[in-house]
Amino acid sequence: MGSFLACQAWRLHYKDVGGKKLGQRSVCLSCNKQLKWYDNIPIFSWILLGGKCRYCKKKIGMMEILAELLMGLAFLGVALALNPFEMTLLGKMIFVLDLLLVTALGFLAIYDGMWGELPSFMLVIALVLAAGVAGCKIWLYGFSLPMLWNLLGAVAILGGIYLVLYLVSRGKWVGSGDWVLGLIIALSLSEAWLALIVLCLSNCLGLIIMYPTVRKKKNQKIYFGPFLVMAFVIVLVFAKVLNGLIFKQLMLK
Ligand SMILES: [Zn+2]
Repeated sequence: MGSFLACQAWRLHYKDVGGKKLGQRSVCLSCNKQLKWYDNIPIFSWILLGGKCRYCKKKIGMMEILAELLMGLAFLGVALALNPFEMTLLGKMIFVLDLLLVTALGFLAIYDGMWGELPSFMLVIALVLAAGVAGCKIWLYGFSLPMLWNLLGAVAILGGIYLVLYLVSRGKWVGSGDWVLGLIIALSLSEAWLALIVLCLSNCLGLIIMYPTVRKKKNQKIYFGPFLVMAFVIVLVFAKVLNGLIFKQLMLK
């Protein structure tokens, strides 16, 4: 799935910038040579080729291998955390919607990380999937006022803060898609406490991973999407552990 998304991101980007035409088969973006099937095997081909094109020896780039590895880990994590075999039908539906959402967000993270844009058609798809997850959760646990407050709290923390930052800075501090991405993540988690962890974790990840780049080059723009998505997947996978932490604290008090 990671390999597929990375490939689709390139195809969409090339279509959008109206540059070179990409054929049906995958080609090297540098020498345009058509790739053999054995050079397209996720993770293995990249490693066997040493991250370079077989023909022109130009570097393939880190995004491809990162997308393949991280997407694999994300699917493994979600499957282990939300074991679909022990679930009711509604639980299974949430599991499928969550996997589709992780896929849509993976695409957005790749596109944002590479070109600093969040394609709106994919934001809409992810928003519909996230609303579906929130709807299924309300259906599963039954509607209650505390639940609604919890959901609205999550939306305010992730969607609201980025919307305010966007409006106050007129798009200078954060991009226009970031608050929608926050809203999507908030809806699918439906819990204020988990939304708060995503907010902190994404900023920490961004700070740690981008620190060397920013130190070398001042005024460097950081695209925040990949870090928001990474933090979301980590919180989704460890939601039970994280919820256990706060509920234990509340019980002690
Ligand atoms: Zn090449």
